[in-house]
Amino acid sequence: MRHELAPDPAVAPHPLDALLTGEAGAAGHSQTRAPDLQLCPACCGRFVVPGEVHEVVAQTRLRLELVCTACGWSKVDVHHDEELIELECDLDLAFADVLSLLETIWLANEEEQILRFSAALEADAILPSDF
Ligand SMILES: [Zn+2]
Repeated sequence: MRHELAPDPAVAPHPLDALLTGEAGAAGHSQTRAPDLQLCPACCGRFVVPGEVHEVVAQTRLRLELVCTACGWSKVDVHHDEELIELECDLDLAFADVLSLLETIWLANEEEQILRFSAALEADAILPSDF
């Protein structure tokens, strides 16, 4: 049986997918995916994060605020632990994506600096006074 957090075989697997799938499976969570709490109903962006916890409603339910960091939408509602775990996993994946993109940009900048320095050396444009 394929878990909902497992990577789509048609898409390259995300590095955190295996880890998150393993954690969810070990915790015995159901195979049905909770509502996508990260998706903002106002702006349709994936920028919703947990806000203030208002109340523990039951052993596995919390009344808390969800806030969209993009448009400011917010809503206080009761959510089950499984929904919040799904949101936390989605946030972890989004954070990993941001870090990966940051690393890609950093590497591209480093490569560009090396190419510029190399071109400057070949053109004898680097002088001792540059250091
Ligand atoms: Zn929004």
